[in-house]
Amino acid sequence: MKDYLTKAYAFDGRVRLYAARTTNLVHEAQKIHQLWPTSAAALGRLLTGSIIMGAMYKDDQELTIRVESNGPIEGMVTTTNAKGQVRGYVGNPKLFFKNNTGGIHLPQAIGEGKIHVTKDVKVRDYFTSTSAIQTGEIAEDLAYYFTVSEQIPSAVALGEKINPDNTIELAGGFILQRMPGCPEETIELIEKRLKKLKPVSQMLEEDYTPEAMIDAITKGDHQILHTLDLSYYCDCNKEKFERGLLSLGKKQLEKLKHDDKEIETACHFCGTKYHFDEAAIDELIKEIS
Ligand SMILES: [Zn+2]
Repeated sequence: MKDYLTKAYAFDGRVRLYAARTTNLVHEAQKIHQLWPTSAAALGRLLTGSIIMGAMYKDDQELTIRVESNGPIEGMVTTTNAKGQVRGYVGNPKLFFKNNTGGIHLPQAIGEGKIHVTKDVKVRDYFTSTSAIQTGEIAEDLAYYFTVSEQIPSAVALGEKINPDNTIELAGGFILQRMPGCPEETIELIEKRLKKLKPVSQMLEEDYTPEAMIDAITKGDHQILHTLDLSYYCDCNKEKFERGLLSLGKKQLEKLKHDDKEIETACHFCGTKYHFDEAAIDELIKEIS
C-alpha cells in the first residue's frame, strides 16, 4: 500500500480527522539513518505526527518540530510541508529498549524535555511554540502540544510494527481535532469510541486504510475531503551548503583550507555528501572578498 493521508470532517462537521499510513517513508528514514528499533519507532512516530500536522497548513508553508530532551535519544528534528513531504533525523540512531511486554519502550529513550514547533508561514518571521514532553510516547506529547499551545483539543494516535529483523514493517496514525462548539454528547461519544478503538499498530496489521481508520472512529458519520500522497523528501542541494560555508566567514574558510585541504559535508536529513575541494574553497573565499 502506498503512503497517503486522508482528511475528513466528522460528527456533523464538529470534528476534523486526519489518518495516514506512513510505512514506506518511515522505512526510508530507517534506511537512511540506519536506525535501530527504538530510534526508528521514535523518529517514525514524529515523522508521522509531523506529516499529518503539515497537512493542516498551506502549500509552501513549512513546519519544523524539535524534540529536546534529556534521554539517550539525544533529540530529534523533523521538517514537513503541506505537500505531504517530510524529512527528519535523530540524535542517537542506535537505541533498542524493550518494555516488559517485549514492545518498544519510548519513554526511556526520550526522557524529559520539550517539544518546539516552528511554523514558517513564508510571510513574516517564524513562530515557535513550546510545550513540555508528557510521556515520551510522542502521540500524547503532540496531543498535549495541540491542546495547550494551540488550544485545539486533540487526540493523537501513532504506531508502528517492527519485523523480527528489526526493520519497520508498518507505520501510521491519526489526529482527531475538535472544532469550537462541539456538543458535550459528541465529545462523550468520541471519548467512548477512542477508548474502544484498536491500537494503531493492530489496525495497520489488519490492513486498515486511512479511510478505514476514520470509519472505525466515526462509524460512517464523516465526509472525506481529500487525500494526499506522502513521501520522505529532502530538498538539499550544493548551493545550500555553499551558503552555510560562506556564513563561516573568510578567516574560518582559510583555516579549513589550510588544515584539511578539502571540506566534506553531509546532509543531516538524507545523508547526501557534498564535497568541496581546494579550488571550490578558493572560489568561496573569493566570493566573500
Ligand atoms: Zn538532504
